[in-house]
Amino acid sequence: MENPTIAAISTPESAGALGVVRLSGDRAIEIANKIFTPVSGADLTASPGYRAHYGRVTGGGKQIDEAVCLVFRAPHSYTGENVAEITCHGGLYITKAVLRAALEAGAVPAQAGEFTKRAFLNGKIDLAESESVMKLISAQGEQAARAALNTLDGRLSKKIHAIADSISCVLASLAAWVDFPYDEIEDTSPADMKKVFTSAIAELNETVERYDAGRVFTEGVDTAIAGRPNVGKSTLMNLLAGSERSIVTEVAGTTRDIVEESVRLGSMILRLADTAGIHETGDIVESIGVDRAKKRMQRASLILAVFDSSEPLTEDDIAVLKECEGRLSIGVVNKTDLERKLDISEIEKYVSETVEISASTGEGEKELENAVSRLLSAENFDPESPCLSGERQRICCVKAVEYLSEAVSAIDSGMTLDAVTVCAQCAVDSLLELTGEKAADAVIDSVFSRFCVGK
Ligand code: GDP
Repeated sequence: MENPTIAAISTPESAGALGVVRLSGDRAIEIANKIFTPVSGADLTASPGYRAHYGRVTGGGKQIDEAVCLVFRAPHSYTGENVAEITCHGGLYITKAVLRAALEAGAVPAQAGEFTKRAFLNGKIDLAESESVMKLISAQGEQAARAALNTLDGRLSKKIHAIADSISCVLASLAAWVDFPYDEIEDTSPADMKKVFTSAIAELNETVERYDAGRVFTEGVDTAIAGRPNVGKSTLMNLLAGSERSIVTEVAGTTRDIVEESVRLGSMILRLADTAGIHETGDIVESIGVDRAKKRMQRASLILAVFDSSEPLTEDDIAVLKECEGRLSIGVVNKTDLERKLDISEIEKYVSETVEISASTGEGEKELENAVSRLLSAENFDPESPCLSGERQRICCVKAVEYLSEAVSAIDSGMTLDAVTVCAQCAVDSLLELTGEKAADAVIDSVFSRFCVGK
């Protein structure tokens, strides 16, 4: 059956210099030819691939715009199908008019992620690479973009395939041995099997750890700004967010609810929560806020505990410090522009690092960035190494590790080779689910439904 030709606007729906309407499918070039007339008089349907034509787009009998139409011939295109990309002037009206003309000429509207899904179904990219396309689009920093680009490059898939192949080799020799026990087949000893499985476990664990470290660049680290009222938590949040997001006042206890914001600190992303000031209070509403702040602090991966350097340490400060003990935490000694009355050595006993800062002047922000980077081992993150791009892939890796560990235990406890085979096969399946070779349709649909239309 003929695959319907899909069309969508591939550029953001806002005013801009250029807009792109993309068509993909068997009839893409034929449909483009109906709405686009090259000034050279060329017939698009006779155009070779990788060719740009300058001309006019028409729809409803009227000229819509001057444009450039790029022609790609299957299989040499992003989707692996015939593709026409019409680059017209940007802006909401023109791109929509061009899309409408394409739909009237026989195309159907593309679903979210359908271009990339077709690329996947046509074997142009695998599922892991498709997900890195999405990561690349949403990357908020250079490190995140580079990591996504190298997954798109196929580095992750190659690594995962190599691991799956090593396990499959063991499985193949086990199967041969079961089927032809009396033939001269080279035996795989339990020790050899174990070696292959443990080395696969180590490599997968390392991949998961690198993903966790890379999350500081891709998804952001859950961070709580804590401290008693009036030490400057909201001012710090505003400094980092670069806006007046939290309400800053001189009345103690103004931030009752938790304000959340994703901010960039250098190339890292922090998912910041500015919590209500932690202090003893008789006010019921306030105490709910304080309880919530404590819970938020317990859940956070990183705590920025703020102190007022112009005042001696109080009981409430000590309560905050106690929450920091044994956690990834930075003691942010604020208001360094004022006269010092605080003994920093007390703070250093509880937190991982201390940084002096003036949230109102911005002095010390770079030191804070360096401290966060050190603490999260962000400087060790190498975006050039194969990197997972998302929770789905992480779960596939973790599942594979669990199955392989079971296989190793089965070998150790002298169980039958059947048990080993089942576990190892499940591990391979998890890895093939990661790359998409064995992913259920529902998984594939859910991956692509998170894309934007036009990609
Ligand atoms: P929060 O209750 O911890 O959120 O504290 P706020 O951010 O609302 O700040 C309380 C007061 O301290 C406000 O008047 C701020 O302007 C002031 N403040 C915050 N940071 C600094 C700073 O670095 N230097 C000085 N001098 N004042 C600051």
